[in-house]
Amino acid sequence: MSAYHFRTALLGSESNEDPLRASSMPLYQTATFEQPGADRFGPYDYTRSGNPTRAALEAQIARLEGANRAFAFTSGMAAIHAVLRSVERGKAVLAGDDLYGGTYRLLAALEDDGLEVRYVDTSRLDAVERSVDDDRVGLILVESPTNPQMRVSDLRQLARMARDHGARLAVDASLMSPYLLQPLALGADVVVHSATKHIGGHGDVMAGLATTDDPELTKRLGFIQNAEGAGLSPFDAWLLLRGLKTLAVRLDRQQATARRLAEYLAGHPIIERTLFPGLATHPGYDLHASQAKGPGSVLSVLPRHPETARRLVEATQLFRIGVSFGSVTSLISLPCAMSHASIPKAVRAARQLPEHLVRISVGLEEADDLIEDLDQALALASAA
Ligand SMILES: *Cc1c(COP(=O)(O)O)cnc(C)c1O
Repeated sequence: MSAYHFRTALLGSESNEDPLRASSMPLYQTATFEQPGADRFGPYDYTRSGNPTRAALEAQIARLEGANRAFAFTSGMAAIHAVLRSVERGKAVLAGDDLYGGTYRLLAALEDDGLEVRYVDTSRLDAVERSVDDDRVGLILVESPTNPQMRVSDLRQLARMARDHGARLAVDASLMSPYLLQPLALGADVVVHSATKHIGGHGDVMAGLATTDDPELTKRLGFIQNAEGAGLSPFDAWLLLRGLKTLAVRLDRQQATARRLAEYLAGHPIIERTLFPGLATHPGYDLHASQAKGPGSVLSVLPRHPETARRLVEATQLFRIGVSFGSVTSLISLPCAMSHASIPKAVRAARQLPEHLVRISVGLEEADDLIEDLDQALALASAA
């Protein structure tokens, strides 16, 4: 981490990196770079291998995460895949049992190809301990809070267990962003982000990041990014550099609004449970506060009557029906039919992911307008 506060560090030092001291990092929209000679190379030769705009983004992310190196990929899934591919042959992956649906789908495909994957509720340390006990796990992959059930895991203890049993800890911190959660400082070996969410922040770019201090992992991720070609394009890197500058100011506002919505929903008669780590009634409230700087801008609710869930989602006007989160506009979704539909229904049931769970992502609209919209939608949903 730089000597500056995070909010200051977000504004970066781009003008120090550009040879012409451009105050905003220029977009090097080029595939190739001319070489000084046939066997002499400049700092860049081919954008798949490296590009100044992507390098500026990666350097900035590494600085913000307090790490040596970050790698930018074409999507969060590409970043997660790169991390999963770094697991030693013969070693197992221990994954949280309430992960993003796309991560589950990828793990299931890798399982078909022979990778051993163990699933566990990572908020239960005793269960994790039993799963890593045979020292055959190479990577523990967790989200905290989880998406969409908002379960909180003790990242410091998970890092210790990983270390004790020869495994690495990877944290998918998409829901929190580097502003709210710094997993490497808690002992994680690698942090991944779907930068499509908070880091881009405007719902207009797909990207993923993997950041690490581990020299071996750095080598592996660098090789995969160059050899397989899933490195982020210069233009998308440029959009992320732009989005990143307002990360803190956006999230401050979004989570203040999310808190108001959570309080409103928790007091509404047709809502049975409101899952938000910023509510003191949340079982992971203290733990989350001990390892993250805020609750984030995503919350889930369980309507008392399951059949009202779809009507609630469809009756909102300001909240658009959509997957994803972390954008400037508010979204509402039914994860089991949308972002998590790639988890088979039987598996969702076995893991007690409620089919009627409604997920809300809070944007930058005025809180009173959002509450008014929820109020009319809840009234319509319960009347029908
Ligand atoms: C969206 C998301 C991903 C996947 O990222 P993409 O950018 O959509 O590929 C992974 N993990 C979490 C927690 C996510 O929310």
